[in-house]
Amino acid sequence: MRKELVGRRLTDRAHAPRKSMVFVSVLTVSAVLTAAQTRPAKTLEVYVVDVEGGNATLFVSPSGESLLIDSGNAGAAAVRDAERIMAAVKDARLGQIDHLITTHWHGDHFGGMAELAARVPIRNFIDHGPNVQPGAAADEFLQKTYPQLFARAKHTVAKPGMTIPVAGLDVLVVTSAGETIKAALKGAGGANASCASFKPGENNAEDPMSVGTHVTFGKFRAIHLGDLTKNKEFELMCPNNRIGTVDVLLGLHHGVDTSNSEVLVHALQPRVAIMNNGTRKGGQPEVMKTVHSSPGLEDLWQLHFSQLSGQEYTVPGLFIANLLDEPLAAMPVAPIAAPPPGPAAPQAPVHNGAAYWIKVSAQADGSFAVTNARNGFSKIYRAN
Ligand SMILES: [Zn+2]
Repeated sequence: MRKELVGRRLTDRAHAPRKSMVFVSVLTVSAVLTAAQTRPAKTLEVYVVDVEGGNATLFVSPSGESLLIDSGNAGAAAVRDAERIMAAVKDARLGQIDHLITTHWHGDHFGGMAELAARVPIRNFIDHGPNVQPGAAADEFLQKTYPQLFARAKHTVAKPGMTIPVAGLDVLVVTSAGETIKAALKGAGGANASCASFKPGENNAEDPMSVGTHVTFGKFRAIHLGDLTKNKEFELMCPNNRIGTVDVLLGLHHGVDTSNSEVLVHALQPRVAIMNNGTRKGGQPEVMKTVHSSPGLEDLWQLHFSQLSGQEYTVPGLFIANLLDEPLAAMPVAPIAAPPPGPAAPQAPVHNGAAYWIKVSAQADGSFAVTNARNGFSKIYRAN
């Protein structure tokens, strides 16, 4: 098993530049599709793409079918983020994205969608329903652009308990539009010891609406809850833990401290957490303490250095995928406070140059490898 993982990893690394892509580029789109869907891969690949404190997480099943959760940032960043997602789409040799879940209607989650849809066919657009937070950009997008994107595809409003048909995986919606699953997953449902000390957190309107997704591949389990906030984490996980434990916790709401309560993180007992933080978004001290004190945690991986962590709270650089366009000589020891949201906030340190993903390659026996595409550092997590 170990041999197979190592072999796979080395193969992946040897792909730049990919000889096979030379052939693929001269084939028609339908031929590419066939190639993707019949490839002999035995692993679930999860690309956690750097969209600068937004979200874009691509699941590629061994069957070749795919699920993307969110499409990066809006405005001037939309082309950049769509291109970064496309780099993962091409690396996985996908001819289409079978399902796109938009967790909620914040610009860092749906912003790159139109640019992405112009680059690759998207077959099923999944969301929690209407925007519930006043926001001109989201309202205009939902009125004018979104219906055009799904007009020749499928549109699905997610409900807790709904499965999303990705061949080779079990994909279950566990939260949507403020509702959670009511019944525990198989093998879960035990009392959650953290519930007694839970402290409610702050909510905006859209984060708690997030579509949350649980993915099972054989014995491997991962969860991505969008930007679900603490109060909804409590509803999902208390008094009984309806999810059980997971191998990989994805997203973590960028590492922002309105999410990531102990009732969620400590009860899920992830072996690995992968945080989609930005240069000055997330990675906040409270979250870092919660994650690092989580029972059974082996490693936290981050998409970015965050100035909100400082040296005091950051993980080693080996586990961090992205730097700044003009890297600092050293991180200050103390974390800086998160700037207040809104247009008056100072601009975050810029990273528009080359971007790197963190990739999970999971096997059906529950073992998996995590790779930092920036430095090639890879670690194998054996099956329990
Ligand atoms: Zn967000």
